[in-house]
Amino acid sequence: MQFNSLVISNVELSPGYWRMRMTAPPPITGSKPGQFLMIKVNGGSDPLLRRPFGIFDTGAMVTEFTDCGSQSYLEILYKVVGKGTAMLAALHNGDRLDILGPLGRGFTPGDPAGEKILVGGGIGLAPLYFLARELVTGSRVRLFAGGRSREDILCITEFERLGVESYVATDDGTLGDRGFVTQVLERHLATAHNATLFACGPMPMLKATAEVARRHNVPCQVSLEAYMACGMGACLGCVVKGKDHGDNHPDYRCVCKDGPVFDHCELLWEKGEGGHS
Ligand SMILES: Cc1cc2nc3c(=O)[nH]c(=O)nc-3n(C[C@H](O)[C@H](O)[C@H](O)COP(=O)(O)OP(=O)(O)OC[C@H]3O[C@@H](n4cnc5c(N)ncnc54)[C@H](O)[C@@H]3O)c2cc1C
Repeated sequence: MQFNSLVISNVELSPGYWRMRMTAPPPITGSKPGQFLMIKVNGGSDPLLRRPFGIFDTGAMVTEFTDCGSQSYLEILYKVVGKGTAMLAALHNGDRLDILGPLGRGFTPGDPAGEKILVGGGIGLAPLYFLARELVTGSRVRLFAGGRSREDILCITEFERLGVESYVATDDGTLGDRGFVTQVLERHLATAHNATLFACGPMPMLKATAEVARRHNVPCQVSLEAYMACGMGACLGCVVKGKDHGDNHPDYRCVCKDGPVFDHCELLWEKGEGGHS
């Protein structure tokens, strides 16, 4: 679905990290955690391509924007890394956006029994909040959040308000444990019962999480980020290697259409991808 949207609020939460709320048509409330939006960040042709963002939250609107015909809202959490995201950060209340979505395959919550463990690295926390909101209705949910420094750990209070128990690790030790969040996760998994992992973050962190899941034999879904132009499987710009079928030929998957969420067993994790362990 393609729709026009109005910015309701756009707030800097931490240096370089922003949270934007915008209007959305009611069907958006039927979107699944882990799905994403392709947003045209301005009305002109620069940048030409839409930018992908996970859905941080969505719901029914209760206030003033209902009179412009939108009864729903959606939110994204984003980090300014280049031209498109800098343009988003410059938008104000009432500015217009052209959005395509929801797109892709989201997370599968699975059996409510057992513990649900969210693992987020930096801006990777964005799609996990929407997921947490759904999971807390039937399951015990824990969040393991990692980042370089305390400024990279976002919205923990929002997760905790949902009833999620949180554990934090930063590379420099400015918040939570010093070190990688996957090390904290691994200690927890030693005593966890019937756990399922849901992870989003930088590739080295996802790779380390998949490795921890393999060692502890727990199911794990990972949400990948990749460069993508169309978001619908046409441009093949976002392919990743999947497991082969025993014939030594990798089976390529589109992050946009086959993902962005994959079972970790579906993917071929390359050796030497970053130093995270
Ligand atoms: C399915 C999906 C969901 C995403 N969800 C979010 C989200 O919720 N919040 C958020 O902040 N970002 C998210 N991203 C990443 C976001 O799309 C990019 O950061 C954004 O497109 C950058 O646009 P730009 O014009 O500001 O940067 P550009 O000028 O295009 O690039 C600036 C820098 O960012 C790097 N970069 C750009 N795009 C990507 C990418 N897809 N993966 C890795 N590095 C990239 C480039 O290498 C370059 O160094 C998501 C990406 C995908 C594929």
